[in-house]
Amino acid sequence: MKKHNFSAGPCILPSSVLEKASKAVINFDNLDLSLLEISHRSSNFVRVMEHAKELALEHLGLQNKGYKALFLQGGASMEFLMVAYNFLEHKAGYINTGTWSDKAIKEAKLFADVVEIASSKHANFNFIPKDYSVPSGLDFVHCTSNNTIFGTQMNAFPQTDCPLICDMSSDIFSRNLDFETFDLIYAGAQKNMGPAGTTLVVVKEDVLGRVSRKIPSMLDYRVHISKDSMFNTPAVFPVYVSMLTLSWLKEQGGIAVMEKLNNQKAALLYTEIDRNPLFKGFVANKEDRSKMNATFSLHDDSHADMFDALWKQAGINGLNGHRSVGGYRASMYNALSLESVQVLVDVMQHLENNL
Ligand SMILES: *Cc1c(COP(=O)(O)O)cnc(C)c1O
Repeated sequence: MKKHNFSAGPCILPSSVLEKASKAVINFDNLDLSLLEISHRSSNFVRVMEHAKELALEHLGLQNKGYKALFLQGGASMEFLMVAYNFLEHKAGYINTGTWSDKAIKEAKLFADVVEIASSKHANFNFIPKDYSVPSGLDFVHCTSNNTIFGTQMNAFPQTDCPLICDMSSDIFSRNLDFETFDLIYAGAQKNMGPAGTTLVVVKEDVLGRVSRKIPSMLDYRVHISKDSMFNTPAVFPVYVSMLTLSWLKEQGGIAVMEKLNNQKAALLYTEIDRNPLFKGFVANKEDRSKMNATFSLHDDSHADMFDALWKQAGINGLNGHRSVGGYRASMYNALSLESVQVLVDVMQHLENNL
């Protein structure tokens, strides 16, 4: 039986998507050829790419609003520097809410001035800073909507008079936001969309082209837009699987339906973390808790061996916390069912009742 996969990333994908993807590896579109051995310029694959981009914009409600969707390579980490290449001339503002924001800041500092508008670094990123003001005269403001490692999630975003850029790698398509607030959104596929190897970038076209530097072609968003994400060979398999997941999302009823389910899953688990005297949550303020990645630990580490044995026996995978936080992390991306969360809650209660 398939495990209950709480892995943080790469992570769970819908089983119907995995089945369709595996068929396409053998025989794609009844071509008697594998998806992996046809030209990316064939009409069959061009259709996949176009459909994936359309679906991404459609889910975000950004069709016909001046935005373009791109499927690039290099992961979200490449976007840390692409954003700087394409937008940073004098000074940028970053909200530092975790390891990923911290890494994005490090890249941006190679280019120009960076102000940390707000940070929770001093508290090992266990909360989302809220009382800050955004200075004027910035080239852009960058934030990270969900902190995969520490288990915090932003619910309010800064008001800016410059482009607002957001790394949504680990919560894109999980909840509705006013996506038009953002001028550029990026997300590595492997958290809520597909396999590692492609990164979705959604960018408002009119904010590009404002820096004076020369941008290498592969790092220039305008080059990728003009070539429809086919400037060079795209990651055909990750794009195909992302397209399947985005189609699956549409069949499920879209982001609104997912958000409801994600709220139920998070409520079920956090209620147990708060109720069960053996466990404690990592995040300081309840309103900052991530609905995608719940971080928690045992009060008493001597129960760890028994707890670890129990969840493994129950068919759970990927529950260990990141080494910088310790304890446990339950990642509850779109494809994870409420039943899987119930299995984890049952194990936590079993531990409490059998000590
Ligand atoms: C995983 C993750 C990244 C890094 O993604 P790569 O594709 O491995 O570069 C960046 N930001 C966030 C929020 C993430 O969760």
